[in-house]
Amino acid sequence: MLVLMKSGATPAQIESVCQTIRDLGYAPHPIEGAIRTAVGVTGNKGPIEPSVFTRLDGVADAVPVSQPFKLVSREVKPEDTVIEVGGVKIGGGHVAIMAGPCSVETREQTLSTAEHVKKHGAHILRGGAFKPRTSPYEFQGLREGGLEILAEARDKTGMPIITEIKDTDSLDVVCKYADVLQIGARNMQNFSLLEAVGERDKPVMLKRGLSSTMKEWLMAAEYILSRGNRKVILCERGIRTFETATRNTLDLGVLPMLRATTHLPIVVDPSHGCGYAKGVTPLSRAALALGVDGLMVEVHPEPSKALSDGPQALTFPMFEKLMEDLRGIAGIMGVEL
Ligand code: PEP
Ligand code: MN
Repeated sequence: MLVLMKSGATPAQIESVCQTIRDLGYAPHPIEGAIRTAVGVTGNKGPIEPSVFTRLDGVADAVPVSQPFKLVSREVKPEDTVIEVGGVKIGGGHVAIMAGPCSVETREQTLSTAEHVKKHGAHILRGGAFKPRTSPYEFQGLREGGLEILAEARDKTGMPIITEIKDTDSLDVVCKYADVLQIGARNMQNFSLLEAVGERDKPVMLKRGLSSTMKEWLMAAEYILSRGNRKVILCERGIRTFETATRNTLDLGVLPMLRATTHLPIVVDPSHGCGYAKGVTPLSRAALALGVDGLMVEVHPEPSKALSDGPQALTFPMFEKLMEDLRGIAGIMGVEL
């Protein structure tokens, strides 16, 4: 159920709606819009009689929400969500380029990559310090040491940093350094982790699970919003299909549907989406032309020596060319890069 307030509704009238929702044993979620406030209701098992709310002062209407996800849905919040981090806006026509190595390996590797991507127009530095690897024998990341290097790169370049949070045990240490928390594909349905980041006041980028439907992905995002954290970004990073020529199948086809269904910003990660460096630029161009709010790409000074995801890493000259191409498309799309 969504309770729509009149445009001039007072804070006291909004609070009275929230109290009525609490008295029924449900949770109120006030959502401020450009014109008026709406209050989402969660926790109800069946329908609620609209007149419970429409009889209250300041209420314009009370409408049932048809989707199983509520707070992420455009039915509840028609306007695009814009997330701001360290002066960078994501969403509502603001496109953010997130670039950097798959893993933080050394100080030199990370700082040189950060400086290069910043110089050519990246807005946010990516880099993994806690790596969820398929094999326990592969490089697992530098852990807090990697976060310290990322923080140094932030100080040097001014770019905010995004890094993966792998489990609830490392939440405090990752929150100490990160500007945006990344939840990886393998953790998309780690519900305790989703609840834990939902209680923090940091933007979260939720990657789509390896074999998750759009609905499962949005329900995972709903876990975060339902705990109070509204700053969620969705990231399409490819799904597993029958195709084995590419690492994953980048599902660009879902994006217009996703855009129509949710107000949350949408980012595309073509690096994991295809798994080979030459695919990254064409897919980035396609994603930008589709109207996404950001791209995440992996860049490495020497991809052949990378400790993770080398085959999909862009070299420095490839990143430079990517940004040139993207600027051309941004001009056509009327968005700023
Ligand atoms: C990553 O960003 O390096 C990563 C591990 O991504 P994903 O969770 O999409 O596999
Ligand atoms: Mn990677």
